[in-house]
Amino acid sequence: MIQLIRGFKDILPGEAGLWQHVEGTAARLFATFGYGEIRVPIMEKTELFARSIGEETDIVEKEMYTFADRGGDTLTLRPEATASIVRAYIQHKMYAGDPVHKLYTIGPMFRRERPQKGRYRQFYQIDAEVFGIAGPYIDAQMIHMLHLLFQHLAVTDVHTHLNSLGCPACRPRFREALLAMLDGVTDQLCPDCRRRKDRNPLRVLDCKVPACREAVADAPAIVDYLCADCQAHFATVTRALDQLQVPYTLDKRLVRGLDYYTRTTFELQTGVLGAQSAVAGGGRYDGLVEALGGPATPAIGFAVGFDRLVEILSRQHTMAARPPALYIAALGDAAKEQAFRWAAELLEAGIQVEMEHGDKSLKAQMKRADRLGAGHVLIVGEAELAAGVLVLRDMQTKAQRELPVAGVTAALGALLQSARNSGDDGNIS
Ligand code: ATP
Ligand code: MG
Repeated sequence: MIQLIRGFKDILPGEAGLWQHVEGTAARLFATFGYGEIRVPIMEKTELFARSIGEETDIVEKEMYTFADRGGDTLTLRPEATASIVRAYIQHKMYAGDPVHKLYTIGPMFRRERPQKGRYRQFYQIDAEVFGIAGPYIDAQMIHMLHLLFQHLAVTDVHTHLNSLGCPACRPRFREALLAMLDGVTDQLCPDCRRRKDRNPLRVLDCKVPACREAVADAPAIVDYLCADCQAHFATVTRALDQLQVPYTLDKRLVRGLDYYTRTTFELQTGVLGAQSAVAGGGRYDGLVEALGGPATPAIGFAVGFDRLVEILSRQHTMAARPPALYIAALGDAAKEQAFRWAAELLEAGIQVEMEHGDKSLKAQMKRADRLGAGHVLIVGEAELAAGVLVLRDMQTKAQRELPVAGVTAALGALLQSARNSGDDGNIS
């Protein structure tokens, strides 16, 4: 039997309800905040990711699914969504007229990492980006929106970590101070960090190797090196979050190693997922649109790890499939044909109906209706059809009533009105 690819996974119907619930919650919330959905391809030219994520990142160095297509182009399955959205923003000149755009997308990403709990090779992100706003209140508003997403999903135990990365004007001074400090501890760093130290010293700060973490425990903090503008920006972001009562922790380790990542950067962490503690990450990238060939445009965004979010949710809630409002127990061919037509009419009216397709005894059919959790069962046998009167059983109260065949779907429609499919996928509890 052919199995799925290592690090990939199926989302089965039982779990898919949770995914739909999250998607619906995010879509409603983001729409309130003025975000429109954008859908971008899952494959792009490799160069887009190499340039936007950066050659010296783990993603580009060792995690991308890159291959030559039959025409000879080098393509990559997207490891994240920001690069594609920035490309689309530039390619479609979305900045013309009004440069301000708020966009979100939800979909699969691909990284060839070592698979483990919370770490997959195909995983999903909920991604939001804002273009064209330089001021600090949008930073706070975005973090507020993310905070609300978790609140609306009743996910507790996530905490926001916050830092500022400064800008190309103030970062060199910090970099110097950091390098001086790292020079003193070089022999305690992992081989990766020794290499990073010269090429991309900021990244030593977020290395997960315990020895490295210890070695940089006393590293300088970027926030102590911010220029006046970056300082004012960050002060407004933190004050705004305080006013909104969004809790956060200042975290000097939170860094991104590329020049176009600027100012506010944040990560949401949870204590319930073990080593894979990051559930969302984001920040400003005021230099990226220009670096990819667009006009200078400030921007900020975040990505939620959808799989990890669902993992937390599934520990706190269960999702029950919505049971059918009606089960039609049909006995005999004539009854089945009739049941089929009634079912079709009720389904058209948006009422969730199941019927028996095989040849089962009434007892077996009642059992199945029970197992499905059907609200009512309509019993249609040859005798009932001949008499022109059907039996409707309320599965909760066990009460039975008679329904004339004439106008039965209208009567059922009225009776089951409250069970009409409202478009949600199930019941979360
Ligand atoms: P990590 O430190 O866990 O590797 P990251 O810094 O690589 O995360 P980002 O690129 O910031 O992650 O992506 C945002 C979010 O996407 C992460 O916070 C995480 O929840 C999720 N994520 C990243 N990689 C994976 C993966 N391989 N499997 C599942 N979720 C992932
Ligand atoms: Mg990673």
